[in-house]
Amino acid sequence: MIERDVEIMAMCCMDGHGVNRSEAQLLASPECPLDWLLAWGGRIRNTRIGKSVRLCSIVNARSGNCSEDCAFCAQSARHRTSAPIHSLLPIGKIVETAKYAAALGTTCFGIVSSGRRATPADLVSIAMAVEAIRNECGSKMTIGASLGCLDYSELCYLKNAGLGHYNHNLETSESFYPRICTTHTWEERRRTVENARSAGLQVCSGGLFGLGESWEDRISLALSLRDLKVTNVPINFLMRIPGTVTAQRPSLNPDEALRIIALFRFMLPDATIRICGGRAAILGERQPDMFAAGASALLTGNYLTTPGVDVETDKRLITDSGFGLDNCEIFKQ
Ligand code: SF4
Repeated sequence: MIERDVEIMAMCCMDGHGVNRSEAQLLASPECPLDWLLAWGGRIRNTRIGKSVRLCSIVNARSGNCSEDCAFCAQSARHRTSAPIHSLLPIGKIVETAKYAAALGTTCFGIVSSGRRATPADLVSIAMAVEAIRNECGSKMTIGASLGCLDYSELCYLKNAGLGHYNHNLETSESFYPRICTTHTWEERRRTVENARSAGLQVCSGGLFGLGESWEDRISLALSLRDLKVTNVPINFLMRIPGTVTAQRPSLNPDEALRIIALFRFMLPDATIRICGGRAAILGERQPDMFAAGASALLTGNYLTTPGVDVETDKRLITDSGFGLDNCEIFKQ
């Protein structure tokens, strides 16, 4: 009786114990009814996180012209796409964008830069931007950055400037990763996540789904994130961007996307699970179901190279779905 098994697993998750690989395989299987999974995913989220949803936004501080060959990415110099190409925005522009995001009610702001790793000069500018945002927006705004594969000392430098969290997605399982990128390794990504945690930063790391990975790859990714003690997990759904290698991949259907969210809630019951790129395109009218599945945060506004959902629309989505806005000052641990 699979419903009973799901219920027992959910009870353990509500006590803070994520499911193991074989249990996750059961949740991922088509025999496990999605509505049952969603009903329990939401209960786990309510018990472990509460009925609030956090809004985060980002600025594409340096865009395009990247040396790497990530198959899905519009910013790789190897792909002919219409993504903007610009060097690092002026510090004032980054700060202005953060202030605008704060005024709209987002409490988490990320500075994102294309490339394998930010240059030393860019790191100095970004550290100055972080300090300025802290002065302008106060402690209500958590400041993050996503600047590629940085080493421990660089991450310490950013932390000393006031950076709160570092985003570096593992993207997928270690075994599937060579299918989507050949210019750097999954292990480099894992090491960067470890460096960020060692530097005392909160770590935000998740994945991109719809690349052709299997459920086994998805389960492996969630287990890797658990091993790394990642507590903030962005979930992205592939946007098929013309000019990229993955442009022709079939889209995920909403049921599969919702099952992914629920699976991650069962595997990482205490994590902030943030639904990011592709959510409106893939989930469409079923976006409210992502909260039922266990989502607890949204990336609002535009994504890096694709349009997103405006903040007011997302606020309505949250309140109409029966949730409140999370105004906590730090990420949930
Ligand atoms: S995902 Fe990052 S590293 Fe990969 S091509 Fe895009 S900008 Fe470059």
